[in-house]
Amino acid sequence: MDYSVILPVYNEKDNLEPLHAELTGVMEALKGSYEIIYVDDGSEDGSLEGLRRIHGDDGRVRVISFRRNFGQTAAIAAGFDASTGDAVITMDADLQNDPADIPRLLEKMKEGHQVVCGWRRERKDTLLLRRLPSVIANVLIRSATNVRVHDYGCMLKVYDGGIARGLRLYGEMHRFIPAMAWDLGASVAEVVVNHRPRVAGVSKYGLSRATRVVLDLLTVKFLSVFSTRPLHAFGLVGFALGVPGTIMLGWLGFDRLVFGVELAGRPIVLLAILMVVMGVQFITMGLLAEMLARTYHESQKKPVYVVALDLPAEQDSAETGVSLAAVGRAAKA
Ligand code: UDP
Ligand code: MG
Repeated sequence: MDYSVILPVYNEKDNLEPLHAELTGVMEALKGSYEIIYVDDGSEDGSLEGLRRIHGDDGRVRVISFRRNFGQTAAIAAGFDASTGDAVITMDADLQNDPADIPRLLEKMKEGHQVVCGWRRERKDTLLLRRLPSVIANVLIRSATNVRVHDYGCMLKVYDGGIARGLRLYGEMHRFIPAMAWDLGASVAEVVVNHRPRVAGVSKYGLSRATRVVLDLLTVKFLSVFSTRPLHAFGLVGFALGVPGTIMLGWLGFDRLVFGVELAGRPIVLLAILMVVMGVQFITMGLLAEMLARTYHESQKKPVYVVALDLPAEQDSAETGVSLAAVGRAAKA
């Protein structure tokens, strides 16, 4: 399969038919094999019936329907897992993304990138509730991650299939996919795309999304930097508190024992004790996190590296000079 298109659908009944027609037009013009995966995220407005109709009419369509609403990120994850394409395309099912942009994103990918993001330079959403929070979120994400794109929230993106299927998404992490892909060693680029106002259905998000984005950002940042060495994060804070605390306690004890200085009524004693206790706690927490990190990686057989290419050795034995791989090939033939 050359292309997989993934569309999360949550109560988009009236958008489905025109969307599918537009998308099919673009995909057919690409001259490659393709599949369109609609993931119905527990819609309650009859979107599933619409998807069944589309599925009946078009053999290249796959429909996955969730038992309840699991969220856009889960829908995208299900699409990734089901996809078989060399290139995986994600987009919204509300017609705000323009399928006509897909060929340009694929073109950009051929320049040697594994992820190409859309950039909605002229976003057609309300200013105060949608565009302003988005500007702030983009600045935050850009400063906290290593990926420099303008519009993390745009769902029109193209991925290398292997990268997309290697991603593990949790919570509402879809806007951090470029950052996670970067962690897997992907090269990320962006292309300006068209954005259209919503004509049917309603947006599923409000302002409350902003705080969740910030919290997710914290998780992504922490995992990307410290998932393999958490003690470095906790231990640093632990030392910063514990070392000065210990020095202070030592000095106070010396004062008390040698010079007989009274300690009662001196807040600095409490401060020193607090710093030592907190320092010990941070270091202990870091050590526990180290154990968790090992459980995390080993229980999932998740290596701490990502391999791009693995050319096996052709020659197995220096003595015979006969390649076992060659023997194997001959045996098969
Ligand atoms: N969506 C989904 N599950 C949800 C919320 C949204 O699958 O719980 C889908 C929705 O159908 C649409 C896309 O995610 O295809 C983006 O949603 P929306 O247009 O509401 O977000 P916005 O464009 O306003 O950020
Ligand atoms: Mg939308």
